[in-house]
Amino acid sequence: MDSKLDKIREVIRKAQNIVLVSGSGVIDETGLNGIRAEKIVYDVEEKYGYSGDEIVSSLFFSRQVDKFYDYYKNVILDESKKKPVTVYKAAAALEKEGKLSTIVTRMIYGSYQKAGCKNVVELYGSAEENRCPICGKIFDSDYIREAEGIPRCDVCGVPLRPGFTLFGELIDNGRLTKASNAVENAEVLIVAGISLNSATWANMLRYYGGNKMILINDREKTGDERADYRAYGNISEIFGYVTDFKDK
Ligand SMILES: [Zn+2]
Repeated sequence: MDSKLDKIREVIRKAQNIVLVSGSGVIDETGLNGIRAEKIVYDVEEKYGYSGDEIVSSLFFSRQVDKFYDYYKNVILDESKKKPVTVYKAAAALEKEGKLSTIVTRMIYGSYQKAGCKNVVELYGSAEENRCPICGKIFDSDYIREAEGIPRCDVCGVPLRPGFTLFGELIDNGRLTKASNAVENAEVLIVAGISLNSATWANMLRYYGGNKMILINDREKTGDERADYRAYGNISEIFGYVTDFKDK
């Protein structure tokens, strides 16, 4: 590895309070489609007659709940291309060491929690927390995947609400506040798989006033110069290296 990475490694080694902001580049590496399925936009259009963006909207959900759930099961929850990556385990190890205080992510798969992370703010909610609109009972992603047709509450019989925020709905204010507070108080901010120009993240990253923003991404993008340190390549490999992660 080159000296640039060793410099980043040094910054992380000395840090007491790291916050990780994890974006769509990490989801891509995991082989999952995400909510919007931007990587397979043509396949989605062909199969459903709508784009992922249109399907995961509150309007679409209220009008075509059957099609919405077909997309949820077969596109959002499609694990056929899923592969193990180290970034989640490396984050868990760093958290356990007491150095990583918060992970902020747009991912909805609970991947960080499944690897053992405790302090995760899922801005858009989670596919593991689908809810009955009447009794409030929570159902995980397996329940959605295995349901025949529209997944319904096993007590009330009504269609479930997806656990993640739909377009046209507001992001939960509590989560937003928690995330911006974490970013504001971060000593070192690691942003992984994120375009710094995207509206959601640009707003969030404004809260960071420090001078140790580390960007890790698969390739260079416009706006990257905002970061104080930059590294490009396989996100998991770089993250594992700079956090000194040893897989056991
Ligand atoms: Zn219910």
